[in-house]
Amino acid sequence: MSYRPSVYNAAPLLHFNQREHSVEMLVIHSMAHEAVEGIARLDELGLSAHYVIDFDGAVWQCVSEEDRAWHAGVSLWQGLDDINSRSIGIEVCHNSLGQSKFGRRQIKALTGLCHEIIERWDIERHMVVGHSDIAPTRKPDPGKAFPWEELAAEGIGIWYGKQFSEETDVIKMLSDIGYDTKDVGAAAYAFCRHFLPTKVKTMPVRRLLDNPYPKNCDELLSSPDFIRALQNIYAQYIETIYQLKRSYFIRNF
Ligand SMILES: [Zn+2]
Repeated sequence: MSYRPSVYNAAPLLHFNQREHSVEMLVIHSMAHEAVEGIARLDELGLSAHYVIDFDGAVWQCVSEEDRAWHAGVSLWQGLDDINSRSIGIEVCHNSLGQSKFGRRQIKALTGLCHEIIERWDIERHMVVGHSDIAPTRKPDPGKAFPWEELAAEGIGIWYGKQFSEETDVIKMLSDIGYDTKDVGAAAYAFCRHFLPTKVKTMPVRRLLDNPYPKNCDELLSSPDFIRALQNIYAQYIETIYQLKRSYFIRNF
């Protein structure tokens, strides 16, 4: 299977500046518009992304990867802020803001593009995230239907594995994975958007934008299937990060 996106269209956006850090993350979004309209909307709002992937899989480039696009906003992952400076941002067009299935051609194009970016910038698996992962109280995208499992099977991001951690401290697990746990309920709900979508309600797009996480999601924290999922995903993250540290240690000493 060839991964290379078939079409690159250029639609330069002006809202960007210079990076303060080098690229170490990939952030995936979804937007409730088709590409041309969505790019105009970003421009209107004084925002940008490096790439926009249209419904037919066409890839639009709006900002050079060298530059800092304005897509992440106030966000945090693994204790790192200014994620715009550290990341490449990709918007995937989607009518229901990621609540129903994504198109095959879009996902094929996205997979190809992610492979290229990950290789170009040497991005680690635990640093491939969705907007909702890095801004749990503010953002619902790329949405509960985003095919994280399929991407992880291609080496993009992390998914479930055989190991389960025996850790029981939910906040520690969420925080070590990378989530900002200032609002633990929001972090838990963001975890579900990514890893346990059956726990996430489908909402009208308008309400989804206004209310990215329900106020009563604290009950998730004691739910057995949530804890079980978290213990599994946590084990995969810890293993990935441990292996990276070990290979860094071997390389440098
Ligand atoms: Zn977004």
